[in-house]
Amino acid sequence: MTGLILENVEKYYGSACAVTDVNLHLPEGKLVCFLGPSGCGKTTLLRMIAGLETLTSGEIRLDGEDISHTPAHQRNFGMVFQSLALFPHMTVGENIAYPLKLCGVGKPEQKARVSELLELIQLQQMVDRPVAKLSGGQRQRVAIARAIASHPKLLLLDEPLSALDAKLRESMQVEIRQLQKRLNITTILVTHDQREAMTMADIVVVLGEHRVQQVGTPIEIYRNPANEFVADFIGSGNIFAATALGNGKVGMPGGEALNVPISDSIVVGSNIKMLVRPEDLQLSLPQTAAANQLAGTVTFIRDIGATIETTVDCSGVSLTALSTPNQCVGLSIGNLVSVTIPAEACRVLSA
Ligand code: ATP
Repeated sequence: MTGLILENVEKYYGSACAVTDVNLHLPEGKLVCFLGPSGCGKTTLLRMIAGLETLTSGEIRLDGEDISHTPAHQRNFGMVFQSLALFPHMTVGENIAYPLKLCGVGKPEQKARVSELLELIQLQQMVDRPVAKLSGGQRQRVAIARAIASHPKLLLLDEPLSALDAKLRESMQVEIRQLQKRLNITTILVTHDQREAMTMADIVVVLGEHRVQQVGTPIEIYRNPANEFVADFIGSGNIFAATALGNGKVGMPGGEALNVPISDSIVVGSNIKMLVRPEDLQLSLPQTAAANQLAGTVTFIRDIGATIETTVDCSGVSLTALSTPNQCVGLSIGNLVSVTIPAEACRVLSA
């Protein structure tokens, strides 16, 4: 099978687990994000793929070949770290040519490849400039050009954008994604930033508590999180306790019943957790209670221009709704309000 396969991969440092029970198939040509909170094992997993860390157990295969014990320098993978690790005393051209020189590529060929890569990253005019005299974004591009110089089979990026300011980071996310698509190079990006993963990835691997929690497209993970951990980590969400009532209904703490898509296998009377995304809640001025409508009091409003976040207390359940100025019904803190929770927007979460 083509692509990268991880089978039962785990890594322990002494008795401490860094990551365990990892089974993944990363298809060729895709950009895959390893996403998760600090310490969940993202970097360790990437370093094992790179050959910079040994596996405690399991196997890594690339296009069918077992590479678990292949030394890093024989894997021909490009890597970019958070620090970028460029040589500050060298010029842009020398930095990009460096891996080619190491592989014994001849001077004329090095020159041709460097100019091809400079064109790709749009820095043709800067070949002789020392990297210390580049902007953050330009340095980023040089690091990527150096990583792909020797036509690697895999590009591994470990939080490469985390040192950049928010605006530059967003434009680099788009730039890297476009470059990756143009080159069709299988890429793994480690990040703890869910917005970055959603922007860039074909496939997101959510890691938490040292294991894979879910694998899916960004939208699958956002819309159908596998469990409470993923629902909480990806995007903002209203997660609240309810009781299964049977017949497609759940009971809210205030006594109201909501119609929701709920599996028949959930035992009537059991305590469950529900997820509703803020953009799915609809606010209106108080009205006679209708199906899937709760009465509440506005406790907080955050108006940031393009969107308005309104938090409403509904009998002890705090729900935040996200609206645009056009949808806004002119609420203030303390106002009574009706909150509609569309049945199809509700997800029952497994623990
Ligand atoms: P971050 O986002 O903070 O970089 P991460 O998800 O990349 O975190 P890892 O760096 O892979 O997490 O670390 C996973 C776990 O393994 C952590 O508990 C960490 O303390 C531990 N760990 C990592 N490297 C070592 C090491 N060389 N020796 C001992 N423990 C380690």
